[in-house]
Amino acid sequence: MSEVAHADVVILGGGIAGAGAAYEIAKTRSVILLERESVCGYHATGRSAASFTENYGTGLVRRLALGSRPFLASPPAGFCEHPLLSPRGMLTIARADQMERLDAELARARLLVPSIVPVSIDDALARVPVLRRDYLAGAILEPHSMDIDVDALQNGFLRGARAAGARIVTRAQVRGIACRNGEWQVETPAGLFAAPVMVDAAGAWADEVAQMAGIAPLGLQPLRRTAFNIPAPVGHSIAHWPLVNDVGEEFYVKVAGGQLMVSPADATPSKPMDAWADDMDVAIGAERLERATHLTVTRVSHSWAGLRTFAADRSPVVGFDPRAEGFFWLAGQGGYGIKTSSSLSRIAAALIGGQDLPDDLQRLGISASDLSPARFAPAPQVSSPSTTRGAA
Ligand SMILES: Cc1cc2nc3c(=O)[nH]c(=O)nc-3n(C[C@H](O)[C@H](O)[C@H](O)COP(=O)(O)OP(=O)(O)OC[C@H]3O[C@@H](n4cnc5c(N)ncnc54)[C@H](O)[C@@H]3O)c2cc1C
Repeated sequence: MSEVAHADVVILGGGIAGAGAAYEIAKTRSVILLERESVCGYHATGRSAASFTENYGTGLVRRLALGSRPFLASPPAGFCEHPLLSPRGMLTIARADQMERLDAELARARLLVPSIVPVSIDDALARVPVLRRDYLAGAILEPHSMDIDVDALQNGFLRGARAAGARIVTRAQVRGIACRNGEWQVETPAGLFAAPVMVDAAGAWADEVAQMAGIAPLGLQPLRRTAFNIPAPVGHSIAHWPLVNDVGEEFYVKVAGGQLMVSPADATPSKPMDAWADDMDVAIGAERLERATHLTVTRVSHSWAGLRTFAADRSPVVGFDPRAEGFFWLAGQGGYGIKTSSSLSRIAAALIGGQDLPDDLQRLGISASDLSPARFAPAPQVSSPSTTRGAA
């Protein structure tokens, strides 16, 4: 019989969610993180637009982003070699038929971020000269939106977790989960692992992992989003262009690695999988970009897709499952998992440690109940020994 490696907490999934949780939890507890792939961050985390905005997502998501900014702007000494954030700005544009929506977005955005302001068409064109004047009816600017160095953030989390004693095990696809002697026992090709607390940070696979543990899924829905790079337009200095985002989420374009990254902002329901870019979605993105700008897409240098996984109310799910002792959800980060990673990791560590949420997050109006899986999976009325673990 193979030996079982024990820890206080076993984390399933080595994307930004699992890595951030390992970093925070390992400060006070022994941690084992299990990742199926040969490297951490291969799925959604490695395919993002790397954008930090406080002006996108549900109200709760926006507050989680606000709560993450201090860490991202000023990580602890030794966390990374270069700043995690660099200035970008975000210009949200609207056609005449979208102006009502732009006004509503501006009013909503300014509730939390008063620095977001309307800008004139001339100002928008000065910032991004390839925009078509006859396309634009209005624009708003989020001046303090940033680019995130996702690799540095992910590696900083993993390095910090290891330094605190966490074990990161790759090529460890979880194939079976059982509840034995008050512990979750997890079977992988890399061995058997067990802990009284198991964190489900499996991204698009989070519901599948729960089902492996005998827990009914929460109805998380992976949605595919496509992106592609095109060469920088000749004769333009693009380095300081803000991210340009259509207010109706029809497309966005941003500077990335000296090129332009374009997305049709698609959201196609998918099963959990290694997603790839569909040619039709790339063509739609190119067409929308060409409609709004003077750019012509003649060459796509790279295209990809990733899964953004949402709960029904489009806010993350973080907390112990009321139906199964020791099963902790850290899922449903949707299109916001990078920018909210510091807040969500700290919340996970606090709840697993039986503590209140960090003061700074409470002051932002974030509460554990808003994030709890209990909003989708109410606690059973009567619990009995047979229903306290792994019961659906
Ligand atoms: C095109 C695109 C643009 C985006 N842009 C942004 C952005 O600008 N800003 C932002 O904040 N967010 C953005 N996002 C969202 C962000 O990428 C995600 O919210 C975040 O990466 C989710 O992290 P995760 O760790 O939950 O998931 P993942 O990174 O997918 O990690 C889950 C991990 O679990 C592992 N796993 C699954 N099943 C098992 C198993 N059985 N055993 C072991 N391991 C398993 C997987 O291999 C995977 O590595 C974007 C996403 C996409 C696709």
